[in-house]
Amino acid sequence: MPELPEVEGVLRALQPIVTGKTIKSVEVSETIYNSKAIGKEAIIKGLDVEQFCLALPGTKIDHLERRSKYIYFHLLKDGLPYMLVSHLGMSGAWFSVKNLHEITEVKFRKHAHVTIYFEEGDLLVYSDIRRFGELRFLETEADYPPLLLMAPEPFDQHALDHFLHMSALPKYENKAIKEFIMDGHVVSGCGNIYATEALFRMKIHPARAVKRISRERKIHLFQEIVIVLLDSIENGGSTISDYRTINGGAGNMQNRLQMYGKKECGFCGTKTKQKTIGGRTSTYCPACQK
Ligand SMILES: [Zn+2]
Repeated sequence: MPELPEVEGVLRALQPIVTGKTIKSVEVSETIYNSKAIGKEAIIKGLDVEQFCLALPGTKIDHLERRSKYIYFHLLKDGLPYMLVSHLGMSGAWFSVKNLHEITEVKFRKHAHVTIYFEEGDLLVYSDIRRFGELRFLETEADYPPLLLMAPEPFDQHALDHFLHMSALPKYENKAIKEFIMDGHVVSGCGNIYATEALFRMKIHPARAVKRISRERKIHLFQEIVIVLLDSIENGGSTISDYRTINGGAGNMQNRLQMYGKKECGFCGTKTKQKTIGGRTSTYCPACQK
């Protein structure tokens, strides 16, 4: 699943391509129509497909913003602001093309679910193999309140205070540290890959209870999360399974990971172990991480 650095990579690639363009029309796949017809909300959330397709034409993309694992397309229509909010789910990807045949990987072409046609003549295509991604057309963040509950951006000056404050709450203090740092209300955009890496670098066992970690180590852990996220952004994110930047592009961070997906600890050579924590598989070194 794309985490903060991967979403940042998509945003940086999309920004220069789509900013300033005006949406002419939108086409949605039959699969999405059918899922809506049986009461499932595949990809397009909150609005009927028809409403969604009517809402976007005539809007101009003013600027893009990343917030946690979401991309906000800030739109203007008749001088009024709107947003198209995109979450990539497990396998969502954006393609900027002249026509669908330019999407060379068949699986992405086959699962093109939303096609945005620009006045300028090109297309922006949202493809999603597993259909866990989301697209919402909103006036403001308040139209979808979970957006308001996300932790500050990890690079914000208030993010550390927020992290420490949350760690002292009764609902979190007995939780496993890995589950805690992967909670989007606690840290924005840190999923399994970067939680695994930060805990390995800090030599903290992923199942250790939050309250059994000193304040000083929690501060260092938060700083380590920020470092690993920035390192990944600089390296274009991790290309693991179906993540692509845009137009099928790949990142390089997967070659720099030290624990995620490893059979042996790169530091001491011990065979790594796996444990399910908070419903996610966690890899760790039983010798280094206590
Ligand atoms: Zn080790």
